[in-house]
This record gives sequence, structure tokens and C-alpha cells, in this order.
Amino acid sequence: MSPSPSPRPFVYADHRLTCSGVDLTALAEEFGTPLYVYSAEAIRERAGLLQAEFASIPHTLCYAVKANSSLAILKLLAGLGCGFDIVSGGELERVRRAEPSALRQVVFSGVGKQVWEIDAALQSEILLFNVESEAELEVLSQRASLSGKTARIALRVNPDVFAETHPYISTGMREHKFGIDIQRARHVYQHAARLPGIEPAGVSVHIGSQIRAVEPFAQSLQRVRCLVEELRSDGLSIRYVDGGGGFGIEYGFEAFDPAASVAAYAAAIRSVLQGLHVHLLLEPGRFLVAQAGALLTRVLYTKQNGAKHFVITDAAMNDLIRPALYQAHHEILPVLETSPQRPTVTVDVVGPVCESGDFFARDRALPELRSGDLAVLLDAGAYGFSLASHYNTRVHPAEVLIDQGQARLIRRRETLDDLFAPELL
Ligand SMILES: *Cc1c(COP(=O)(O)O)cnc(C)c1O
Repeated sequence: MSPSPSPRPFVYADHRLTCSGVDLTALAEEFGTPLYVYSAEAIRERAGLLQAEFASIPHTLCYAVKANSSLAILKLLAGLGCGFDIVSGGELERVRRAEPSALRQVVFSGVGKQVWEIDAALQSEILLFNVESEAELEVLSQRASLSGKTARIALRVNPDVFAETHPYISTGMREHKFGIDIQRARHVYQHAARLPGIEPAGVSVHIGSQIRAVEPFAQSLQRVRCLVEELRSDGLSIRYVDGGGGFGIEYGFEAFDPAASVAAYAAAIRSVLQGLHVHLLLEPGRFLVAQAGALLTRVLYTKQNGAKHFVITDAAMNDLIRPALYQAHHEILPVLETSPQRPTVTVDVVGPVCESGDFFARDRALPELRSGDLAVLLDAGAYGFSLASHYNTRVHPAEVLIDQGQARLIRRRETLDDLFAPELL
């Protein structure tokens, strides 16, 4: 059987796991563990796939900063022509520090924008505010008027479309907190058009995350298209359709062809928007960065409780919370591909944090891992580091970016002094 090409940059060479050609054992020795490792090439490749598929229509990829907000990753994406989807004033500041010229390509999403965040975004002359409520619209109008600015807005509409994904990351149905009911949107746009400092310029939608099927995207954009046509007949100049993010990946070892997946996704979107003459904005996060990254960890101990075997790693739920939070699956690979003399064992892979929810895998058949061995958790480039916490007074891991065969430290490991710095005795 010939293996299908890997959708990941983490592959074995001479039985040693590498990332874009760089040996992971060497990285662990140089930078320590736990360590987030990303491949710049893999991120470029994903961005290139999307850009190529949408090349025939005016579009901007506004990378969802929350997926992985490291400054070096943002700078890399800005260099590829990406804009950014932000959800806080902190993320706005990240874009400014990574690449100030990218502020003009920022869309600002989120249900709870605060006044200081709105003011900072107005001063930065971002591309578009994705407004999620009428109350927010009033505040935005007041702040824009005060500062003599005009805010281009899209209402984030809630299309009431069901998409198969984990309930915590599904957002496009009426019972969710996100967006404005699409039935009411036309009325709210009419109101918005009369508000000082507000310029309705687009319609926005985001139905959730890790959505593998193409139909929910097409269905929701079809509803958006109808709304755009109504709004234009009402005299509004709607130029932007923001299709949100959410395009999913394969976290297991099932065959996954990113190029074919993007082609299907793009074909569906292009077909729905055909002839509408809008500038398409997309907010991909996970699709761009998840598979470009992995969490490298060292086995501290192994132990057996009754029939259960545990592998205890130096990474924990505070470094990568997806398994605990979403019951997410991450494939685990030993860094040294062990020969047949290592048996396969069914184990729980767990971290040192004092919670039973601190696990990376349960009842997983893996080649036996021993104390001192290195392993990686794959597909940890999105919602990995960005969701890390200091729980159990553990420092954040370091991050390295591999580019052209070179490993570059993009975030040093925190020290305990970093951790205590804001505290007062
Ligand atoms: C989280 C989020 C995204 C990115 O979702 P992915 O699944 O990572 O592509 C895009 N837009 C909005 C509004 C989001 O909240």
C-alpha cells in the first residue's frame, strides 16, 4: 500500500521524526520540552491553496488570530498578503506589533466589544466591524461620531444553519449567542444606515469551527446572498461578504487531501456568490495553522494502576487543552520510530496537572513509550498555545518556527519570574 502524501510536515526520516527536515530530538535538546514546533512552509502551503482557489474573485484571507496569535506567525501570514480577523483589543495590538500595515485589512468580530477596543479599532482604521447586536451598533455609532471617524460595518447574521461539529464550537443557530437573526437583519441595516458614523458595507456570517462538510457554508452564504440583494434594493452599497472561518481538518490518520478539500469548499462558495460582485472575506484559522504545528513532549514516568497503563508527559492540559475541553483527538507519535522489539500497549497519555481531565489520549494503542522518550501531539498548531494557561503554576512552553531548514525560537520559555511579575504581596 502506498501511503497517501501526509497533510503534515512531521514525517520520519531514518526512523527519526522531523519537521520540515529538522530533527525533533535536536530541537528538544536545544530548546527543552514541552515545545511547540511549527513549520512556516506548511502554513505558506495552506494559505497558497486558499489563495489559488479564490484567485478568480476579489478576496482577502483574514486569518483568525485566536487560532494561533504568536507574533511571528502573524508576521508570516501578513507577508503572504493576509488580513486578520480579531476578537479583542489585545489581538488588534498583536497585529499592530507584527505588521502595522496589515491593520487596514482587519475585521473585528466578537459579541462583547468594549469601548476602549472599539476606540482603538477606529483609530487603526480597520477594514470592517462585524457587529453582533443592536446595542453594539449604538455604542459604535457614538464612539465613531466622537472621534470623527466612520465605521464600515457588516452585521454578523445568524443564518440558523446546522453544521455538524462539537457543540462548543458551533455558532450558527438561533440558540447561540452569536450574530443577529437573519430575519431581522434587513430592519437593523435600515436603522444602521441612519446612524451617524456608521456605513453599512458588508454582510458577515460565521457558523462554527472544525466543519468538514461544504454544504453548511454554501447554505448559509445562499441566505447571505439573498440578504445582500435585499439590502442593495434598499439602496445600501454592500461590497463585502465575510464568509467567516471554520473550515475543518482531519485530526486522525484517515486520508486527507487539503488541496482537494479546499477545491470543493471554494467551488461551493464561488458558485453561490457568482455574479454578486462582492469582495469576499474569509476568516480561516485552524485550516491554515493546525497541521503545521505539533507539541513536542518528553515522557516523565510510566505507571500501572490495576489494568490501566499510564504514560505521564511533561506537557499537560494547561499547554494543550483541546482534549479536555472538546474531547478532541490528537494523534501521538514517538519521536524515535521504534523497531518491532517495542510492543504496542494500550495506554492513557496524561499530564502532571491535578485534574482527571488532564489527558491527551485514553485507551490508545501506541508503541510502548518509556521514561525519557520524546513524543509529539500532532495538529496542535491551532487552539494549542493560544489556549494555554498557567494552571498549576506552570509556565507557558517555548515555541519554534522552522523555516528553510532552520529552527528559530519565536517565543522563549517563560520563567517563574515572568509568572509572578504582576503579583503583589
Ligand atoms: C474562531 C473564529 C474563526 C476561525 O475559526 P477556524 O475554525 O479556526 O477557522 C473565524 N471567525 C470567527 C468570527 C471566529 O470566531
